[in-house]
Amino acid sequence: MMLLTKKMIEIRGLLQTVGQSETLSLPSIVVIGSQSSGKSSVLEAIVGHEFLPKGLNMVTRRPIELTLVNTPEAHAEYGEFPALGLGKITDFGQIQRTLTDLNLAVPVQDCVSDDPIQLRIYSPNVPDLSLIDLPGYIQVTGRDQPIELKEKITGLCEKYIRAPNVILAISAADVDLANSTALRASRKVDPRGERTIGVITKMDLVDAERGAALLNDKKYALRLGYVGVVCRVPTASTAKGLFNRGNGSITSAITKNENAFFSAHPEFGSESHLDVGTKSLKKKLMHVLEQTMAASLKTTSEAIQHELENATYEFKVQYNERPLSAESYLAESLDAFKHSFRGFSDQFGRQQVRELLKHELDQQVLNLLAQRYWNRPFEDLSRPIPDRDPLSGLPKADPEGEDEIWQIKLDSSSAALTKLGVGRLATTVVANALQTQIDRLITSSRFSAHPFARQTITEASTSILKDLSYDISDELEICIKPYKYRIEVEDSEWAKGRQNVTNVLKAELKVAEMAAKQLEEQMGGRKKVKDVSSFIDRVRNGQVVLEGDGVGGAGGYSSALLQKGREAVFLRDRVDIIKMRLLAVKSKQCANKDNKYHCPEIFLDAVADKLTTTADLFLDAELLSKFFYIFPRELDARLGRSLSQSEVDRFAREDPKIRRHLDVVRRKNLLEHVLKEMDSLRQLEAREKRYSTKK
Ligand code: GDP
Repeated sequence: MMLLTKKMIEIRGLLQTVGQSETLSLPSIVVIGSQSSGKSSVLEAIVGHEFLPKGLNMVTRRPIELTLVNTPEAHAEYGEFPALGLGKITDFGQIQRTLTDLNLAVPVQDCVSDDPIQLRIYSPNVPDLSLIDLPGYIQVTGRDQPIELKEKITGLCEKYIRAPNVILAISAADVDLANSTALRASRKVDPRGERTIGVITKMDLVDAERGAALLNDKKYALRLGYVGVVCRVPTASTAKGLFNRGNGSITSAITKNENAFFSAHPEFGSESHLDVGTKSLKKKLMHVLEQTMAASLKTTSEAIQHELENATYEFKVQYNERPLSAESYLAESLDAFKHSFRGFSDQFGRQQVRELLKHELDQQVLNLLAQRYWNRPFEDLSRPIPDRDPLSGLPKADPEGEDEIWQIKLDSSSAALTKLGVGRLATTVVANALQTQIDRLITSSRFSAHPFARQTITEASTSILKDLSYDISDELEICIKPYKYRIEVEDSEWAKGRQNVTNVLKAELKVAEMAAKQLEEQMGGRKKVKDVSSFIDRVRNGQVVLEGDGVGGAGGYSSALLQKGREAVFLRDRVDIIKMRLLAVKSKQCANKDNKYHCPEIFLDAVADKLTTTADLFLDAELLSKFFYIFPRELDARLGRSLSQSEVDRFAREDPKIRRHLDVVRRKNLLEHVLKEMDSLRQLEAREKRYSTKK
């Protein structure tokens, strides 16, 4: 018979994980009593340890679903809070503190909460039992207790003492039974006294005759009867147990004390047929619980069956019976991501690297030209520089006698380009492009809804790229070293450079013209731009002398307008220069590489092209190939193998759609499992019945 209760309690625990449906549960024993009736003492006597929250004004604010699991083979006694994942707690003082914390976490204004605390206690000394400890009824509300507390506790208890649960009604012997709050509450829901066990505590506080009369109570007769107990831990033992307080077993002390009391009074002798003692109470509880649970097996089975049908239907209609687990979801997501990464790596190769690098170096060339040839700084109105033709300082079509300057200019510009730190620049540009691409892949993947995975993937790629870049940029710098000393340009390279830089200049011209146009709109039209610009020109040429620095405006223009005007002048000059240089590049003179000093754009472009060719070859072999090889493996390592089950679960459940799907699958599997257990349980029960009738 023992096995049956154990199994039923196990199933009760499984059902708890299915959900909070009331019909989906097996009955339990619900413990009620008013404050100080000795309720905690009774529960602790059953468990054999002090573990319940104590203290003045300490009201239990949440139901405690206490599952006792008898472990005959084991020596160790321990508790577990399944919902908290704290593991096995062997120190009962620790259990007591945890319960106290959980109770205190209920906000005072809420008074009590009906969210139960689940606690399991495993011990060779406990019977298999399922008990629910409820907040004690209070008679008078304390000064700092909310007024609704009393009603809320009553409401909470009413919810739990419904059939088919068994009620364990605790009353103290030294209080008139007619005044027992527990018995009154029980009578309301169980008027014929069919599922209530009466416990009379503190039998030692009344004389034996009166105690015996209480246990024989006929006014509220209970089919399951009354049990008298003396559960107070005797003082002597408390003193002795001081060293292991909270953890030492209190069973033997209580039993000794109780036995001494009851055997000293013939009123409780065996002829009296009175039920006394904690040991007897335990036996009764086990027996009653087993009977009650067995009686509800059928209805609970039916409820589970019904619930399973619902879950199966939902699974079919909503999810087309598509199986899903957190692991399979993660694996599929990872595969899909790796697949899209492979797609990207197939079309991102040397050619793409080349385009990226050339574009970057084109910009560097433009900057160099602007700094060293078209040197026309953004004007500062406070320092007018007169006599500056925007086109001065550029190589003329006929550079007679100026060759040397232009030679130096070009050599130094070319050196500036080769010594720019191309190794680092090129590596960074490509690494950044890869990172951007990974970010894009993440955004368009399933992982976009998973912050944890997003971060993991981003971290994987950044750390790989960082590691690779470190060495690669140095090595690349070495590869381009020869260009720092000498650069030979072939005819074909010159022609190519001429073509390319023409395009670059055209594109740059477009950008400058667009910007000028935008500025024109902002300033209020072409005429306005012209007026302001000519004023600025006059300042620059020294025709107008500004007072101060023009911060407060000048010439009738606000300082904001002047600022825009300076931008307009800058862009106007830039457009002029680019147009002029385009003409130069296209000119016959620049068709020949011998005139390179007059065509720095073409020469620098050819240099940039050489640098690009070296860099793209190297980066393709070193950065791309290595990254494409390492990254998917790193993903497997970080998102596959190294995650714990709970991390995988947490990951999958981040997506609400997946969470719902997983919940349905889980619910269905659990219900199927429970139902199977129930079936075997009912077979076991039938067998036991047959066996006992044969006997
Ligand atoms: P609860 O508030 O209903 O949980 O009551 P407790 O279990 O905390 O008990 C209230 C008080 O009654 C405590 O001081 C206990 O020591 C005392 N007490 C409990 N059981 C007995 C008993 O059987 N005999 C005596 N004399 N005192 C008891």
